[in-house]
Amino acid sequence: MRSTEFRGKQITTGEWLYGSLIRQGERYFIFPFEGKPKAKDTEVDPQTVGQLTGEIDKHGKRVWEGDWVLAEGINGITLTLVIGWGKRGFIQIEEDGYIYADWFYKLEVFGNIHDGPQPAQSVVGYNNPWRCEKCGSTDVQERVWRNVNTAEIVDGGNCDRADYYCNNCEGHNRLERESELLRRAIGWWGETDFREMERITGYRQPDFDPDEGYQAFVDTCNDWWNGETTDDKITIYLNNQ
Ligand SMILES: [Zn+2]
Repeated sequence: MRSTEFRGKQITTGEWLYGSLIRQGERYFIFPFEGKPKAKDTEVDPQTVGQLTGEIDKHGKRVWEGDWVLAEGINGITLTLVIGWGKRGFIQIEEDGYIYADWFYKLEVFGNIHDGPQPAQSVVGYNNPWRCEKCGSTDVQERVWRNVNTAEIVDGGNCDRADYYCNNCEGHNRLERESELLRRAIGWWGETDFREMERITGYRQPDFDPDEGYQAFVDTCNDWWNGETTDDKITIYLNNQ
């Protein structure tokens, strides 16, 4: 969901203003939803303008474009991210990775890029590697155009499958971000039935207490799944498609 509320810092006082965004050429104004301030008091620094995401963090705080957030990473690493609008409706994070709107409940806003604080140096980054869409391998290549005189890479990342290659599959496959494959894997696991869970985990449903629709069996299988690494989850998912 994308909200239509904006914020920006008033150019003379530096105070945050919240409301509707109006643009006149290079100048930006934010009018509060209530009250009737003078137009000159509503002009904001264009660099600070950000939109409300419509999401809240794990403490119920509203999340804005330009906020610094801590996120429990998809493989147990805590990430420091800047919220921004990305392609395909995702919330784009720093370092060319992505985080999904349904992970917002795991985020914690701790500041923004305009007010600080800047994140500690010790925060671990996460590069969200590209993986082969078929086998999940990270041993993948992209065909690029290179200026032969300067060695500068001038173009790449075309959408044609033939431009990508997986060394593990020894074939041309599309690539996908690890976070996207993991998201699909987690969704797929949530849809598996008892027969598939038995086959994949090796546990047998009749060995468990039938109470509450074999909840003990489901819990054991879920514990097994949660104990798998990101690598293994993606591989299990792709092998069982
Ligand atoms: Zn592959």
